[in-house]
Amino acid sequence: MNRYASATALALALLSAPVRADTAPPAPPTAPAPTTPPKLIVVISVDQFSADLFGEYRTSFTGGLARLQQGGVFPSGYQSHAATETCPGHSTILTGFRPEHTGIIANNWTDLSVARADKQVYCSEDETVPGSTSSNYTVSDKHLLVPTLGERMKAAIPATRVVSVAGKDRAAVMMGGHNVDELWWWNGKAFVSYAGRATPAVVARANAATAAKIAAPQAALEVPEICKPHDHATSVGGGKTVGDGHFERAAGNAAAFRASPAFDGAIIALAAGLVQDMKLGTGPTTDIIDVGASATDYIGHTYGTEGAEMCIQLQQLDATLGSFFNVLDATGVDYEVVLTADHGGNDIPEREVTAGLPDAQRVKVDLAPSLVGKQIMTKLGITTPVLFGDIPNGDIYIARDLAPTQRKAVQDAAVAYYKAAPQVAEVFTAAQLQAAPAPKGPPEKWSMIERARASYKAGRSGDLLVFLKPRVTPIPDPTRGYVATHGSPYDYDRRVPILFWRKGMTGFEHPGGIETVDIMPTLARQISLRLTGPKIDGKCLDLSKAGAVCR
Ligand code: ZN
Repeated sequence: MNRYASATALALALLSAPVRADTAPPAPPTAPAPTTPPKLIVVISVDQFSADLFGEYRTSFTGGLARLQQGGVFPSGYQSHAATETCPGHSTILTGFRPEHTGIIANNWTDLSVARADKQVYCSEDETVPGSTSSNYTVSDKHLLVPTLGERMKAAIPATRVVSVAGKDRAAVMMGGHNVDELWWWNGKAFVSYAGRATPAVVARANAATAAKIAAPQAALEVPEICKPHDHATSVGGGKTVGDGHFERAAGNAAAFRASPAFDGAIIALAAGLVQDMKLGTGPTTDIIDVGASATDYIGHTYGTEGAEMCIQLQQLDATLGSFFNVLDATGVDYEVVLTADHGGNDIPEREVTAGLPDAQRVKVDLAPSLVGKQIMTKLGITTPVLFGDIPNGDIYIARDLAPTQRKAVQDAAVAYYKAAPQVAEVFTAAQLQAAPAPKGPPEKWSMIERARASYKAGRSGDLLVFLKPRVTPIPDPTRGYVATHGSPYDYDRRVPILFWRKGMTGFEHPGGIETVDIMPTLARQISLRLTGPKIDGKCLDLSKAGAVCR
């Protein structure tokens, strides 16, 4: 019996043709190298799976994450841009474009022209739907400005099937794109899709099984040997501790379910069920399924990245992915997997300071644009709000209804304030970013303005971009809500693993810095898909030992 039974048991329970996690043998290394296009492309994004976590745990994996390491391993993939959030990150994976071209510059941005009071727009919504608000929104692909690989495949060969499943709507939408056969995300209670779409039987089964899982209490999960050194409590203040959680939860606690390994079990089981029921990979052409495994991110935000919780999660994810690949093996379809992440992450400063990172700290609330704006209003004698936006994603907007001289005075005052703040590393104005050359060279060598430029889009991005110093966590108060996050321009948030695997592939590892935008052209080459339209930011990676040669 698999020792990580919690997530995989759920996964297997949902499938129409369950396969035991520990029965299918690994792919034989002597299989002939594939020379034909794969029949199914499986793209997995593990939300917040940093290259740091991959490096920390990679030798402990025995399931799906071990199998993928037999393929093409790029331990230094880059979400190369500065805005290392979920929506921008997912927008790069299958488009070949950086956020400055996908248009997805953040999870949320400020649009001072919209009618809603908070002026916030969410990346995967249609804010023009009457009655919608930033908390009660209609999911949409309209803000994604470029096509995905699935869309390109379908445009070339209409028989192509494109499926996208994720724990978050923005992950499913940004990987799936504008023309999908099935697109499902978790809305906190169930897997749902766009209005008017029929619910396939497998989705109904997944929802019933997941509802039953949430309705039942969950006992503490076993702590694997490798996780025991991580298994101790760290205080974040206010009597709250993290680090020694084992995912026990009360019956009906859907939020705790979402921040647990079982959530990935549900997402991946639904993906496996869709592959089976739709018979993906058995049609006349290559199909594609995108899977957004979101639990790692919720666990990172809730507990940080270096406690027992993340350790248990990654061991369970490894087992769940192993089960998933066994199901795919059982279909007999020649499939290719690529696994990456939308961004990395950073641990809680309270634990980092005890682990050799004395500069780790939390942001001070006085950097909030609304508070800085109030000081500027007083100083300049302006009576209406002058600054909008948020510190976590760094985009700060200046009020539109100011005279040009006032606007310049506000900008100068805000730049001076942030530049003088001890926790701030860099302040860029829109004019500076627009004048900056496009980033070039290896992503690990990019300057801060090159990183910022890669997720800057005039008209959506802020009038100022403010970046905190490394290891300054933009959550001032961890005693309620999340304790840790990502979103910075630093490599703990930018660097992610990129793993390619296909049966018969000769494995290799390359330590060089590549980008997530390289994934799309690499996959396109393998299925001989010609890329038309504007030149993409990514480049084809030579997986020649696997049969894909870039030309
Ligand atoms: Zn994310």
